[in-house]
Amino acid sequence: NAAPADAKNLRVKLVLLGDSGVGKSCIVLQFVRGQFDATSKVTVGASFLSQTITLQDSTTVKFEIWDTAGQERYSALAPLYYRGAGVAVIVYDITSPESFKKAQYWVKELQKHGSPDIVMALVGNKADLHEKREVPTEDGIELAEKNGMFFIETSAKTADNINELFEEIGKRLPRPSQ
Ligand code: GDP
Ligand code: MG
Repeated sequence: NAAPADAKNLRVKLVLLGDSGVGKSCIVLQFVRGQFDATSKVTVGASFLSQTITLQDSTTVKFEIWDTAGQERYSALAPLYYRGAGVAVIVYDITSPESFKKAQYWVKELQKHGSPDIVMALVGNKADLHEKREVPTEDGIELAEKNGMFFIETSAKTADNINELFEEIGKRLPRPSQ
């Protein structure tokens, strides 16, 4: 949950959920380090990274990002991972309908077991592979709208919409009452 030091400085645990290979670790690396490593076949992330951004109203948001090292294969471990998270980013690959199905599963799972005030974002990644697209943008929009989530298509490869993703999440975080 957002655990702010004061109104202008928010801090939040963010988890990424989604099939192995959809680009979760690459999204994190592009956001935190501005890098893309095309050679990595499996997960490339450290288990914990943090990054602070400043919003237009000068609020700072420190994201404490928990990336899995492939444990997403073991759904039973997921509750340990998303416990206490203020933000869940559910990622699928726009070239993989199977990964979109899995995203739908995660939406349900978080609605059942996540914190009630969790901010959820739905991300269609690998938008640069538009020639291989198999999940229409409209399907992402529809799933997100039905579930009150923010939706965006990103490319961790080209960095398209990566900063926008985190800025939009920052804007949607609950602000502490004063
Ligand atoms: P994770 O298992 O969800 O953490 O996925 P990874 O971040 O390890 O990425 C899996 C594979 O997809 C890697 O080979 C990446 O190079 C590739 N990948 C990740 N994001 C993108 C993207 O936006 N575009 C393209 N073309 N490839 C990507
Ligand atoms: Mg990974």
